[in-house]
Amino acid sequence: MQRTYKILFALVAICIATSFSPVLARSKRMKALIISGQNNHNWPVSHRVLRLILAQSDLFEVDTLLTPAKGGDMSKFNPEFEDYDVVVLDYNGDRWSQSTDEKFLRYVKRGGGVVVYHAADNAFAEWEEFNKIIALGGWEGRNERSGPYYYLINGIGVLDNGPGPGGSHGAQRNYPMHCRNAKHPITRGLPDNWMHAQDEMYDRMRGPANIKDLLYSGYADPKTGGSGREEPLIFTVDYGKARIFHIMLGHCGPTLADNPAMQCAGFQTLLLRGTEWAATGKVKQPVPSDFPTDKERRFRMGYMPPHK
Ligand code: ZN
Repeated sequence: MQRTYKILFALVAICIATSFSPVLARSKRMKALIISGQNNHNWPVSHRVLRLILAQSDLFEVDTLLTPAKGGDMSKFNPEFEDYDVVVLDYNGDRWSQSTDEKFLRYVKRGGGVVVYHAADNAFAEWEEFNKIIALGGWEGRNERSGPYYYLINGIGVLDNGPGPGGSHGAQRNYPMHCRNAKHPITRGLPDNWMHAQDEMYDRMRGPANIKDLLYSGYADPKTGGSGREEPLIFTVDYGKARIFHIMLGHCGPTLADNPAMQCAGFQTLLLRGTEWAATGKVKQPVPSDFPTDKERRFRMGYMPPHK
């Protein structure tokens, strides 16, 4: 074999070998940081479940960082947000240190990716900039000073400045989700209506309401204690260059095995697609074969996607 051919052959062999290398595959994974450690919810379970869903998809390399316990020294909580493609917030607790607040805002403002999961939108009611990052929040003293209510009338979003507390929910139940934007990368290819498994439905949320793309809403049925309004439940947020995905679903159950809202294949699919979009601005993962239908709930009991 002539020398040129030998070199060419060696180069092709290296290319083939590295394209199947697990090391290279790992380096292509998006880097996600889950933040937890305080919450009025069952965070010891929820942050492990979020990690399982993201890591078992093979799309993400996942780190978890826990804050000190309530009342602890927050100067010790100092994440390197900039090392990550996306930060997943599973946190509702004591205010961070000023330097961590500033680092987080720098990360978000330079175009960072953020996922706001369930009660993370209860956090930091008095932090004005955080409320712009979540667009809508609830509880922790939120009221008309926090911004309007946002809900849908005949499919059109309305702002309601009427007085009243921000944040409530009726009894947990199965409920249908209604797609409001089928062209967004996160929703493309998913059914217009799908049945979510037993969960809370957040309603009467308030805030600056700077929703960019409303993706799903649900009807908060007054028969089970809801607001009687069509409520925004999954959306992206308009905040400069940042990519922010807010999912209000996913109330955490008592254990990994007894956790229907997070075991719902619809919740897991939306979490994965929203987190990929927040990390990259694109969604490349295929529509899964086990997505719920308009009548039938579907579960991934072990948080494993169907391709595994
Ligand atoms: Zn909850």
